[in-house]
Amino acid sequence: MSKGFPETRTDAAMSELVPEPRPKPAVPMKPVSINSNLLGYIGIDTIIEQMRKKTMKTGFDFNIMVVGQSGLGKSTLVNTLFKSQVSRKASSWNREEKIPKTVEIKAIGHVIEEGGVKMKLTVIDTPGFGDQINNENCWEPIEKYINEQYEKFLKEEVNIARKKRIPDTRVHCCLYFISPTGHSLRPLDLEFMKHLSKVVNIIPVIAKADTMTLEEKSEFKQRQESMPFAVVGSDKEYQVNGKRVLGRKTPWGIIEVENLNHCEFALLRDFVIRTHLQDLKEVTHNIHYETYRAKRLNDNGGLPPVSVDTEESHDSNP
Ligand code: GDP
Ligand code: MG
Repeated sequence: MSKGFPETRTDAAMSELVPEPRPKPAVPMKPVSINSNLLGYIGIDTIIEQMRKKTMKTGFDFNIMVVGQSGLGKSTLVNTLFKSQVSRKASSWNREEKIPKTVEIKAIGHVIEEGGVKMKLTVIDTPGFGDQINNENCWEPIEKYINEQYEKFLKEEVNIARKKRIPDTRVHCCLYFISPTGHSLRPLDLEFMKHLSKVVNIIPVIAKADTMTLEEKSEFKQRQESMPFAVVGSDKEYQVNGKRVLGRKTPWGIIEVENLNHCEFALLRDFVIRTHLQDLKEVTHNIHYETYRAKRLNDNGGLPPVSVDTEESHDSNP
């Protein structure tokens, strides 16, 4: 084997320079549909089942971030989406209490199981966003967090002894909460979406839509090209027409969160979980992460990042 090695290499190098004309195939290269009845059952259709079993065994990750001012109902909505206490509500939240000076980002992981499918759900809460008087550049710590997760993934990916399955902490989806009282987007909302839509999938939602009048809602709708989902969240159950529903009790009746006549929560839920969860993950990987990766490797002259702990991460606050 080793004797023939240099020759083989020359051959390979030569053939790269002067490509040999390939003989034309006798049969046109067209996929031919084979009558499987003639040949009997092959078993190609079991591939789906094999893939399903594998996914069931390994489970999968989904990381969702919530951003918006305190008290807009972020924690409640995440709990409503997953119908469990996956996000801690700031029940004792009180304006007089200390308002966090900077955005403090917390990631809490949960394992949710339904129909034998396990999902490792991580909720990334960003309390303190937009809570200050001067909110200039307050999207920066959030962008930094998102990029740090890409960096972690990249480091694992370029590792010589890389893991078979790289732990995925990248933010797959960011729910951005718009205040229902503003009547339109504030400069802060625009700034956030302008900067962050380059690095993460953003889904804007109008929080606490039950506090808006129908006029306010339609006014909002007219101002925006595509209406953000106007949602209501709740983790309280009520009995309505013999059915148990998640809702909010008001003096005028129960607002059912999953009733499309009441709000667009069901549309949001279907989009995030039932129809686009895999898409959100793919866009994160193929577009947002890929952009980060290309830029990072480019900055480094095509080389993978080296040091595990960079100086940049120790920035000092003025
Ligand atoms: P967060 O600070 O954004 O996480 O907000 P929370 O989820 O802790 O909710 C703050 C308060 O708003 C709580 O008293 C909730 O019960 C209430 N809340 C949450 N969602 C809604 C909603 O859709 N409509 C109304 N009217 N109140 C809500
Ligand atoms: Mg909260």
